[in-house]
Amino acid sequence: MDRFFAKEDEHKIAWIKRFLEYDAMIPGFHDEEVADPQAVIKKYGFPLTVEDISFYPGKAEDSFQMRPVFPDSDARKYADYIAKKLEYRDEIKEKNCPSNKAMRKWHKRQQGRCLAVLGGRCEVIVHVPFTVELSEGCSVGCEFCGLNAGRLKSVFRYDEENARLFNDVLIGTKELLGDCAGEGTMYFATESLDNHDYESFLKDYIRIFDRIPQITTAVALRHKERMHRLLAELNEDGRTIYRFSVLSVEDVLKIFEEFTPEELVYTELLPQYEESKATAFANAGRRGKEQGELDGTISCVTGFIVNFSNKTVRLTTPTSADDDHPTGEIIIDNMPFDDAKGCIEAMQAMIKKYMKNTISPKDRVRLRKGLSWEKDGEQIVVDCGKGARFTIAANESGDIYNDMLEMFEDGYHTRGEIVAKLTKRFGGALVRTEMLYYAISRLWELGILELESGQI
Ligand code: SF4
Repeated sequence: MDRFFAKEDEHKIAWIKRFLEYDAMIPGFHDEEVADPQAVIKKYGFPLTVEDISFYPGKAEDSFQMRPVFPDSDARKYADYIAKKLEYRDEIKEKNCPSNKAMRKWHKRQQGRCLAVLGGRCEVIVHVPFTVELSEGCSVGCEFCGLNAGRLKSVFRYDEENARLFNDVLIGTKELLGDCAGEGTMYFATESLDNHDYESFLKDYIRIFDRIPQITTAVALRHKERMHRLLAELNEDGRTIYRFSVLSVEDVLKIFEEFTPEELVYTELLPQYEESKATAFANAGRRGKEQGELDGTISCVTGFIVNFSNKTVRLTTPTSADDDHPTGEIIIDNMPFDDAKGCIEAMQAMIKKYMKNTISPKDRVRLRKGLSWEKDGEQIVVDCGKGARFTIAANESGDIYNDMLEMFEDGYHTRGEIVAKLTKRFGGALVRTEMLYYAISRLWELGILELESGQI
């Protein structure tokens, strides 16, 4: 991928971004701006015009794309940057396609399952197939932590032996899953900067995957010098976005003081405090517990998370948080390993055991709860609620899908039961059995069916 924008546009884009951050994150700023934008620009010393910061309100139907009120102003450059970031997110989703055939099918099905259980909210989930953690637990202890990260227990330091393990696991995973293994991050339920050797691992990661992995940090102000260096490298590359979790108004003001707009041009600020109008929490993990209501997820991994600190590899995929999955992830297995070979073998064993891509004759299957559907011309439209839909190109088999969905909605059935009933309904001769089996597999591939055994 190319840079998000040309280097010469950095200054303008960076300042428009900072203006909009003031607007979203500093209480009272928005009212001042609405009352007299020119006066606000002058008061805060933004090198911008009113035209540069004028956008129409975003609309859900066009994914909240930014539309400049004055298309010939520099607002256009900023809007193009945001559009490119959204395009890139969709591109990553496409790229996150494991070369391992069994995992590829499983991974695709989990995307459909997520859409069915999370609805339109899962549009932002990129389903990373591989991610690593360089420590166990987290030193920050945010009360809203959607992954309920425990206290920092240990850190995986960069020495000769650990570097070899890290490199061998990354190279082995690249062989197993393909280039998409490099689309992950070096944190998950951890804080990237808790590891004082993060930068050494980063060098190896870039050498293996030719990509800077995203950092999301809540402690940029605790590691100012490190962060300045990391941002310089990020901005030079221009192809990755970092994110700072901002825990209070005081912190955002300190961040504005410490880091120039240009330094943060590729870094999103995520307000995690009530006074900001841009704060968005998922009710998962600690936040969900505190609210007494579990819902949503912040997980974006559908695949393996290798924790180098405690030498385990877990297989996980997002779901909507509930009593069984309070952190909004289904953790399918968590296996220990001793060395790189053991880690890769653990992943292979999990692929074999859990990535079941056919429905066996004994499996009992039903339609996921909460889905509805209708026949629309030559297709079946399955409505998952919350703004998400599937379409099944049905052609002349539309009636078959319709009847099949009716039966699957009714409760668990084996494939054989469905085929026997449907063959009878359509008078036997009219529907070929293979076609019915194909249609059941198709529904299973889409992720809208669930197995009684709980396997996903
Ligand atoms: S949100 Fe991130 S920084 Fe905060 S406790 Fe959880 S893992 Fe740590």
